[in-house]
Amino acid sequence: MTELLFRDDGYLRSCNARVTNADGRGIRLDRTVFYPMGGGQSGDTGVLRLVSGPVLAISDTIKGALPDEVIHVPAPGSALPETGAELVAEIDWERRYRLMRMHTCLHLLCSIVPGAVTGGQVSDGRGRLDFDVPGSSLEKEAIVSRLNALIAEAHPVGPRWITDEELAAKPELVRTMSVKPPSGMGQVRLMEIAGVDLQPCGGTHIRTTAEIGAVAVTKIENKGKQNRRVILAFAE
Ligand SMILES: [Zn+2]
Repeated sequence: MTELLFRDDGYLRSCNARVTNADGRGIRLDRTVFYPMGGGQSGDTGVLRLVSGPVLAISDTIKGALPDEVIHVPAPGSALPETGAELVAEIDWERRYRLMRMHTCLHLLCSIVPGAVTGGQVSDGRGRLDFDVPGSSLEKEAIVSRLNALIAEAHPVGPRWITDEELAAKPELVRTMSVKPPSGMGQVRLMEIAGVDLQPCGGTHIRTTAEIGAVAVTKIENKGKQNRRVILAFAE
């Protein structure tokens, strides 16, 4: 099992770690700042700086089969480190920060558009959510002005933990039908944007909505009978 440092502090850029296992799938560490692809958010990229000298490029990060198992995928052709090797794990912070800003922005979008979320994705510089909304009632201009108002209002963003039982009693908190909340360990992590949004989420977030910066709705697509896809990008 890997200690998931990004879960408590999304702003950590690097950490000391030790290799617990390395095979054809990738490298496992005893602790990491690398977020594995999940919940619609891309996995981190970066480097592993071995204390013995070599620097390994990490081209993706994915979840393993075990709970909290994180697999750091090395760039093709990399020599794998030995089990027990000491290193510094360092993410590509500029890219991760853009992912965190867009991911948090999707929480705001979720609070603006009514209807269940049926899918979503955050990639570098771009994000989208699919909503189960009947008809063609979504107004692009209204969504973008509300989004940018919430961003400018600088709402604080932070985690809040509740028990599985409390969540089961409040099913309305789960807006995303395609992504199961991180539960089953007795506690569920909720992300709260004060006064705006509260929902289970295991992703990485910024501390205040102001850090998102101005965004644009690039497109609203009709993806079927009750499925509207709203695509966002940073305005600058
Ligand atoms: Zn989130």
